[in-house]
Amino acid sequence: MKSSFTVGHLFGIPVKIHVSLLIILPFFAWAFGSNIIYLTENTDIARRQLLLNPYLLGFIMAVILFISILLHELAHSLVARTKDVETTDITLMLFGGLANIEEISKDPKDEMKIAASGPLTSLVLGVISYFVGTYAPNFILEDLRLVIVYTGQLNIFLAIFNLLPAFPSDGGRILRALIAQRTSFRRATEIASRVGKVFAWIFGIFGFISGNFLLVFIAFFIYIGASQEHQFSNIKSALSNLKVKDLMTAEVKTVPANMSVHRLIEKMFNDKHSGFPVLRDDKVVGIVTMEDAQKIPQDEYSNTPVQTIMNKDIHSVKAEDELYEAFKLLFQKDIGRLLVMEADELKGIITRSDVMTGIRVRELENINGEENE
Ligand SMILES: [Zn+2]
Repeated sequence: MKSSFTVGHLFGIPVKIHVSLLIILPFFAWAFGSNIIYLTENTDIARRQLLLNPYLLGFIMAVILFISILLHELAHSLVARTKDVETTDITLMLFGGLANIEEISKDPKDEMKIAASGPLTSLVLGVISYFVGTYAPNFILEDLRLVIVYTGQLNIFLAIFNLLPAFPSDGGRILRALIAQRTSFRRATEIASRVGKVFAWIFGIFGFISGNFLLVFIAFFIYIGASQEHQFSNIKSALSNLKVKDLMTAEVKTVPANMSVHRLIEKMFNDKHSGFPVLRDDKVVGIVTMEDAQKIPQDEYSNTPVQTIMNKDIHSVKAEDELYEAFKLLFQKDIGRLLVMEADELKGIITRSDVMTGIRVRELENINGEENE
């Protein structure tokens, strides 16, 4: 998550930009610019002169593309909000955008509305821009007309592209919601992700034959996405009805903030733990792991206190929280352990392997229960 930074807030939702976007933006500007040069040489735009450099126009189009994606994601987030589902952030990156919507709605009808809102927004924006640009009076600047028509085409493309039933796209989600009305959510995810994989193969093969490697690349991402979605939904149903308190370790070993790193390492070996909450005056002030110790040279271990190397970002859950919440947080933040806190008081600790144990146990249990679904 460190690879993205917040640029502002819209309706209270943080909007983030991933570094990959900054890398791809000049490429898009160049691609759009080249396309504009092609248009000026081969269409009737050639008769009327463009004022700006085609590559500058290309850059403007690249920015508009990402604004269009932002609006698309914002639509998802705002409709999700009306269904009491919050969005942690919207991240713009290499392959478009991602609204980090916290939960898949339980109700297939709600999920369908959330999924459809994005493409619908793109479609409406696209059609309006296209007509405004095409039928604008002749005296408007040719550059402006070009940008508006282009914006229209881009948004229509976004709508169609997202509606392909290739999971995890919006089209895939709509498909799953449709199937989920007839069967279980889990089964619906399985079918929809299978359809997504088939589409990925078709894209991949078509892209390979036609030499369009961007398509092969996209196919690859669709395939990964489809597999991941399937896994997540399996894990979610595997963890249902399990709480954090069911698998956490209640007796937590801690270290004081002024303990030396040297002593910490000894303790790690003795206790066979690779991470500890750090306490100062009986209050948790951070968490320290083996990786933190590697940040300083070994000869400084004796005279460096744990508090200088510890991580002060404390991620915690409550004992009564669903275990799936803990799983999601561990995954999203890419961390190994979470503290279980109750109003500033440390109640326990839960690690990735605790959650994995829960998943494995449940999967074994489910083998018998499967037919009863
Ligand atoms: Zn979407």
